[in-house]
Amino acid sequence: MITPSEDFLEQQTTWQQDMAQAMTDPVELLRTLNLPNSLLDKAQQAAKDFPLRLTRHYLSLIEHGNVDDPLLRQILPIQAELQPVPGYSKDPVGDAQASLGDGLLHKYAGRALLVTTGACAIHCRYCFRRHYPYANNSAIQHWEAMLQQLRDRPALDEIILSGGDPLTLSDSRLLELIQQIEAIPHVKRLRIHSRLPIVLPKRITHGLVDKLANSHLHSSLVVHCNHAQELSPALLAGLQQLQQAGVTLLNQSVLLAGVNDNLATLKALCEQLFAYGILPYYLHQLDPVQGAAHFAVDDQQAIQLHSTLRKQLPGYLLPRLVREITGESAKTPL
Ligand SMILES: *Cc1c(COP(=O)(O)O)cnc(C)c1O
Ligand code: SF4
Repeated sequence: MITPSEDFLEQQTTWQQDMAQAMTDPVELLRTLNLPNSLLDKAQQAAKDFPLRLTRHYLSLIEHGNVDDPLLRQILPIQAELQPVPGYSKDPVGDAQASLGDGLLHKYAGRALLVTTGACAIHCRYCFRRHYPYANNSAIQHWEAMLQQLRDRPALDEIILSGGDPLTLSDSRLLELIQQIEAIPHVKRLRIHSRLPIVLPKRITHGLVDKLANSHLHSSLVVHCNHAQELSPALLAGLQQLQQAGVTLLNQSVLLAGVNDNLATLKALCEQLFAYGILPYYLHQLDPVQGAAHFAVDDQQAIQLHSTLRKQLPGYLLPRLVREITGESAKTPL
């Protein structure tokens, strides 16, 4: 009997089905990855506040039996999240202060960021919006008012779709949104910030690629990849189509203790990104969000790592090391 490979099975489902089949149960996660049951109690406790969530594709990239796997560390709820740490808050980057209402954040000249939707395909434990009040603050709920705000601000020439993850929207919703943005005369650029290409590669649909290919907007896609192990061949076809559509591919990472806070990992990440046609854009210092303090890398060490990286990589593969400081008019280089 011929058994189809997992790859083959993967092609039999749509990306929406894969989203619906995300893993959310810590028991199943530990069992599937052959991890010790002693982790369960704390995982369940920490998941109450911010649930476990990952795609089956992301799961397939995690090494079995390795409690220190850098991908596992990004998604497994652990005890350290439960301990309050001074200086770590629920709104670490001043989103509330920058909010225009209707799911719009306006911090920087010329660019507005749309908190398109609260949904994500994966829950990254260090996420700076893990406490964001999405329930009544996403653009999708205030569609018309949000668009009117964009029309009313002629200084905006770039619209950034963020979230949550904007690619969790259905193509029909997303394409309609892009169409509405295209119709605003002063908007020249569209940027999509999404982790979906990494955690669910088949999300790069023909519908999305066609829309971007045929748009007069200059488009970029900023993926969010923190480790070379997150890049898989399943991603290549989609990325190539986006490139052919004229979409600029960039990456942002977060510098995370126990995930990518060493030279070899960062270097491999930058080089591997380029092999996938993606340019490193930002390496973010962690935003001090409550529950994520155990991911912090101190500034001194971050600067040291970055300056060594600078000596080992061509200039175009060096991401900018930045921190977001509430009230500043741009991300602040370290
Ligand atoms: C990060 C961010 C941007 C984009 O900044 P760039 O430096 O252009 O990448 C825009 N708006 C908000 C609210 C942001 O947090
Ligand atoms: S918004 Fe981004 S970082 Fe936060 S959980 Fe979603 S995918 Fe992860």
